[in-house]
Amino acid sequence: EAKAEQGSAYCKFDGTMNQRVMRRVELEKEARIGLNDGQFSLALQPQLSLETRRLVGFEALLRWHHPEKGNISPAEFIPLLENTSLMMTIDYWVVEKALSLLSELRERGYDEVKMAINISAAHFLDPALPEFIARQLDKFSLPPALIELELTETALVADISRASATLETIRSMGCMIAIDDFGTGYSSLGYLKALPADFIKIDRSFVSGMLESDDDRSIVASTVSMVRGMGLTVVAEGIETMAQYNMLDQFGCHQGQGYLFSPPIPQNKLWDQLNKSLDAGVWKLEDTSTPA
Ligand code: C2E
Ligand code: MG
Ligand code: MG
Ligand code: MG
Repeated sequence: EAKAEQGSAYCKFDGTMNQRVMRRVELEKEARIGLNDGQFSLALQPQLSLETRRLVGFEALLRWHHPEKGNISPAEFIPLLENTSLMMTIDYWVVEKALSLLSELRERGYDEVKMAINISAAHFLDPALPEFIARQLDKFSLPPALIELELTETALVADISRASATLETIRSMGCMIAIDDFGTGYSSLGYLKALPADFIKIDRSFVSGMLESDDDRSIVASTVSMVRGMGLTVVAEGIETMAQYNMLDQFGCHQGQGYLFSPPIPQNKLWDQLNKSLDAGVWKLEDTSTPA
């Protein structure tokens, strides 16, 4: 009896493990095919100066349209592909695509805007990354200062000294570094001081809570003033309402992005949308009826 139970428990555990591994392997295989078949694309979310509402840049966000499964969210597939060899290929693909779009933006006269690119955690430990970026900058003849690499805060804690070395190299080339999802990880303020960063992005969870929760509001207000005090640029993500926008602006938050201004725009709709939404470089708000 006992032996049989033990056996089945073992089998169940083994089965679950197997399923997870299988799912990852399957996903990696499909993503590899998808990348070659043109199933991947970028969507660009505008980033605005909160004070002037001028367009300052875009965040490049990966989109995967699977022929049978439809759209698969990066929040779903990126964590699964993290630490596979394909993730590096994807990150490189995104860098190249984002830089080519930035180059097109400049050709069309949007020559001041920057491009923020998400890079997976493990990749910041890869010494080949700075070199790859340098080559791409060269290929598209882009000013390095217009490229911002986003690194999530949770990634930092793992190997801060090695990550810092890569960050330093990237910054010495003239590119910018942004700490993404700030406030969600476990890094201390000491890390923030030690880190070579230019932008701090306050995580959406604090922005969405800041009107109802005194704690969230305090966290946002003090993060803004701390980051400003350190001479860095502070960006809020996930701004959905006029009330959040007004409060962030009042707190002195420099830049922001969110559905209030625009969702991420599919690359094939970018030019039309920019034509519609920009008036002399200033972003028009569709919905001004939301009470402030
Ligand atoms: P993230 O870098 O923090 O990106 C912000 C996410 O919030 C994006 O989700 C964006 O579409 C969403 N968002 C923007 N404004 C709003 C808003 O007002 N309200 C709400 N509810 N959401 C908003 P997305 O595109 O699904 O990406 C999820 C995460 O996947 C990203 O979080 C990033 O960590 C990762 N990711 C996306 N694209 C890439 C990529 O090209 N490379 C890598 N390595 N990671 C990526
Ligand atoms: Mg990001
Ligand atoms: Mg973020
Ligand atoms: Mg986030």
